[in-house]
Amino acid sequence: MSSFRTLDDLADVNGMVALVRVDLNLPMRDGAVTDDTRIRACAPTILELAEKGAKVLLLAHFGRPNGERSSTMSLSMVVGAVERVLGKEVMFVPEVAGEVAAQAVGILRPGDIAILENTRFWKGEEKNDPDFVKAIAAIGDLYVNDAFSAAHRAHATTEGLAHSMPACAGRSMQAELQALDQALGNPEKPVAALVGGAKVSSKLEVLKHLVGQVDHLIIGGGMANTFLAAKGVDVGKSLCEHDLTGTATKILEAAESTGCTVHLPYDVVVAKEFAGNPPSLRTCNVHEVASDEMILDVGPGAVEALGDVLKICRTLVWNGPMGAFEMQPFDAATVTLAKTAAALTAEGSLVSVAGGGDTVAALNHAGVAQDFSYISTAGGAFLEWMEGKELPGVAALSR
Ligand code: ADP
Ligand code: MG
Repeated sequence: MSSFRTLDDLADVNGMVALVRVDLNLPMRDGAVTDDTRIRACAPTILELAEKGAKVLLLAHFGRPNGERSSTMSLSMVVGAVERVLGKEVMFVPEVAGEVAAQAVGILRPGDIAILENTRFWKGEEKNDPDFVKAIAAIGDLYVNDAFSAAHRAHATTEGLAHSMPACAGRSMQAELQALDQALGNPEKPVAALVGGAKVSSKLEVLKHLVGQVDHLIIGGGMANTFLAAKGVDVGKSLCEHDLTGTATKILEAAESTGCTVHLPYDVVVAKEFAGNPPSLRTCNVHEVASDEMILDVGPGAVEALGDVLKICRTLVWNGPMGAFEMQPFDAATVTLAKTAAALTAEGSLVSVAGGGDTVAALNHAGVAQDFSYISTAGGAFLEWMEGKELPGVAALSR
C-alpha cells in the first residue's frame, strides 16, 4: 500500500462532485494549444471519475495573472483542446466558487465534466487563503490532485483543499510518485545519479542531497568544470563558476564521508568557439585544455567508463545534459549514455528515471525517451524532489 491515498481508496463516487486539480498550463500560440501532453496526462483520472458517475470539476491555473481576471489567461481557451483529448463535451464555468459555480454544478449530471476558471484570478489561490479554500470546498464533495508539477507550491487548490474534504492522488500523480519512490525513495541498489547542465549554482541543493543518497554521482555538463577547477584543473575559457569551487570541494568531501563515488570526466571535447562542428574541435585529457579552449562535452573515454558504471547499477536518476547537446558533436556523451541507459532498462537490469526541461529535450533528441522507465515533465517540482524536499501538495495526500 502506498504512503498516499489514491482513487482506489475512495468510496462510491457516483453522483458526487469531484474537484480535480490538473495541470492545464498549456503551451499556446495565437489562442490555440500547441502541445496537449498535459491534457493527455490527466485524461485517465478525469475519465475514470466520469465513468464512475462523478460530476468532475477541473481546477487549474494558467500563467501568472497575479490575483486578477485577465481575458488573455482565461481557461475558456483550453476547453476545445480538452474536449478533443477526452472525446467528450466539457462545460466552462467562469468562476471557481459562489452562486454561479453552484448553479453550474446543479446543471451537471453524473459523468459530466466542467472546467472552472483560472484559479490564479483570485488572490486567495497563491496565498492559500482559508476563506478561499472554504468557498471552493463548498461546491465539491471530494478532492483529487493530479498535478504533480504544481505540488511544490502550497496553494489553495494544490494543498489547502486536501485538508477540507476526502482527498487523494489522481492516476498521473500516483504514477509519478511511484516512479520517484522507485528512483530515490526506496531504490534498488546500487543507485547512480547523473547530474549535468550548465551551472552548479542552479543545482547546489540537488548535489548536496544526492551525495547522501546515491552510490555513484556522475557529474557532467558545464557544472563539471567547477568541480574540475576545484581539483586544480585549468579549464581555460570553459563555463565555470570560480566563486563556487569552495562549495564544490565541500560536496566532494561530503561524498567521501558518505561513501558516494563521484565521477568527473577525465577526458573532454573542447573547442575555441561555441558553434556546431567548429574547426578547432578536439578531444583531450582534462589536464591538457588550452587557455583559449572551452570544454563542451564529456570525452569518449569517460563516456565508456560511465557506461560501465551504469551497467553495475540497478537504478539511475538523471537530470541535466552531459554537454552542450544543442550543437553537434557536443551531444555525443549525452546521446551515448542515454542509449546505454535505455538498453539496460530494456534488458530489465536498470530502473531509469529522468526529468528536467533540457534533459527531456536531450533524451528526445537521442530518440530514447520512451525507453526510460519514467520521464518527469514536472520541472520545478521534479528539482525540489531531487533536492529531498517534501512537496506540500504531496504531503497533504499522505495517509
Ligand atoms: P535541465 O533543464 O534538464 O534541468 P539545465 O537547464 O541545468 O538542464 O542545463 C541545460 C543546459 O546546459 C543546456 O543548454 C546545455 O547546452 C548546457 N550545457 C551542458 N554542458 C555544457 C558545457 N560543457 N558548457 C556550456 N553549457 C553546457
Ligand atoms: Mg533548463
